[in-house]
Amino acid sequence: MSDGGQVTNPAPTIKRRGLMLVLSSPSGAGKTTISRALLEQDSNIFMSVSATTRPKRPGEVDGKDYIFVGEDEFQSMIDRGELLEHARVFGHMYGTPRAKVLDALNRGIDVLFDIDWQGTQQLGNDGSTEADLVTVFILPPNSKELENRLHRRARDPEEVVRHRMEKAADEMSHYREYSYIIINDDIDESVGEVQSILRAERLRRERQLGLHEFVQGLHDGA
Ligand code: 5GP
Repeated sequence: MSDGGQVTNPAPTIKRRGLMLVLSSPSGAGKTTISRALLEQDSNIFMSVSATTRPKRPGEVDGKDYIFVGEDEFQSMIDRGELLEHARVFGHMYGTPRAKVLDALNRGIDVLFDIDWQGTQQLGNDGSTEADLVTVFILPPNSKELENRLHRRARDPEEVVRHRMEKAADEMSHYREYSYIIINDDIDESVGEVQSILRAERLRRERQLGLHEFVQGLHDGA
């Protein structure tokens, strides 16, 4: 290739290890909307599909929204070491299947997680996942908005909604355990903020494999 008489080399392709992007928030803070937008706009990240013992809601698809299993099957998954983390949330078990996630990371593909603070803590304390973890906590702009969003959803029975509002305060108290905090006042802005985090985190030295050889090549005039 010629550029003003100068010979230019093609841009190098440095391999990268995938990262684990965790988005947590109290229900109703807009996490699902942000996740969807992110997945639509970025082809190098996919959503980890959790296993759960909670009943399927109308419109949910087994294997897409969750892998719906019974208590016994969930316990077997734990016993077989198939879950990266698991926790009881709102009276039901939720867990992250291990195999697909580790495979993606090894292939340089990023994985998005919608898990609660308990699962995030487990991933952060596990030597095999700690370095790959990028944690983001999403807060609602104010309590009225949180209440409105929970009511607008109305996919759950009224008492579940009430229970979730009580739990929201407890969940929000864990914001300190996350690296990044987004106050979701405007969806588009929040999506842009998550994308900025992702772009920067992808450039972290530790994730870029083969840098030593690349720099060595620069020295050697490659
Ligand atoms: P929902 O039942 O509304 O889909 O989810 C309830 C809560 O469970 C949410 O806070 C969500 O982040 C959390 N959750 C979903 N999947 C997992 C998982 O695999 N592990 C953990 N620890 N939490 C999860």
